[in-house]
Amino acid sequence: VFNFSPGPATLPEAVLRQAADEMMDWHGSGMSVMEMSHRGKEFIAIHAEAEATLRELMGIPSGYKVLFMQGGAIGENAIVPMNLIGTNGKADYVVTGDWSKKSAKEAKTYGTVNIAANGEPSKFTAIPKQSEWKLDPAASYVHICSNETIGGVEFHWTPDTGSVPLVADMSSNILSRPIDVGKYGLIYAGAQKNMGPSGVTVVIVRDDLLGHALPVTPSAFNYQTQAEADSMYNTPPTYSIYIAGLVYKHVKANGGLAAMEEHNQAKARVLYDYLDASSFYSNPVAKEDRSLMNVPFKLKDDSLDEAFLKGAQAKGMIQLKGHRSVGGMRASIYNAMSMEGVKALVAYMQEFEKQHA
Ligand code: PLP
Repeated sequence: VFNFSPGPATLPEAVLRQAADEMMDWHGSGMSVMEMSHRGKEFIAIHAEAEATLRELMGIPSGYKVLFMQGGAIGENAIVPMNLIGTNGKADYVVTGDWSKKSAKEAKTYGTVNIAANGEPSKFTAIPKQSEWKLDPAASYVHICSNETIGGVEFHWTPDTGSVPLVADMSSNILSRPIDVGKYGLIYAGAQKNMGPSGVTVVIVRDDLLGHALPVTPSAFNYQTQAEADSMYNTPPTYSIYIAGLVYKHVKANGGLAAMEEHNQAKARVLYDYLDASSFYSNPVAKEDRSLMNVPFKLKDDSLDEAFLKGAQAKGMIQLKGHRSVGGMRASIYNAMSMEGVKALVAYMQEFEKQHA
């Protein structure tokens, strides 16, 4: 089966096999990871190794904390402003799709939100150029979503926000390519696309951004409290952290982020080249802003959608239905999707086109 789910998404088979092997008895401890105290030496070792491997993979500088939290990226939509907006009471949001729009809406509860740029007038088919952004130099931070999972637009460049910290929701493209963490004040990502199962949210935060939380901030969502407690102020999502750690090691063993980038570019090229050559299928996104992770596409005649999905399912290609807000199809091709899977999808699309064009 090739699973094109946008998330929770397909995971490397080797990781699932290892987790299955270790399920009942982790490294001779007599316990499943699920049964371990988060304060015991076994889990402390799992947690430390996961963090160390992530730091190595992403090249996270020493002046940054890595937190393993809960609440998902939607939780972070509130947790980020609660922790960061306090410095000046206002923040800039760049709206490039449904996810960043949701982030901006949630932040309004905690301070003044300036929409510095908005791609909605062009139906989120392109990322507004930075020369068009209206940034406030006194903002506490600038928020972007580096990859819009629904609309399929992705930043292939890093905005320059000067001394204002850049905050990015990287839920759907973290670990897909190398990035310069030093250009960001804070990065957050739910794990369930490129890192593991749902339940853990990774937050990478620069040290100077800790300690500014609004008084209403719940302790469990206070970055400084969690940083001081090594993400163990409350019981962390232990099993999700364990699987994420296995995924990090798997990515490292397979060449790290540079190799992921090459693999992801090659897969996306196969799919977009076919979409562009076909008059039966279409993708509306500006070429320079197309996501390497989520490829939405439409059939010429949407009355064929059901038949397309049924035929795909019969060939073992599942979870291709587009998001309910945009319709059509969406192929999510995260790190764990093979080139073989993408080629199988294109072969099926060609066959379907021949039958129905
Ligand atoms: N942000 C992005 C870019 C996403 O893709 C998603 C989920 O698909 C979310 C936020 C929401 O994540 P969660 O439901 O884990 O809070």
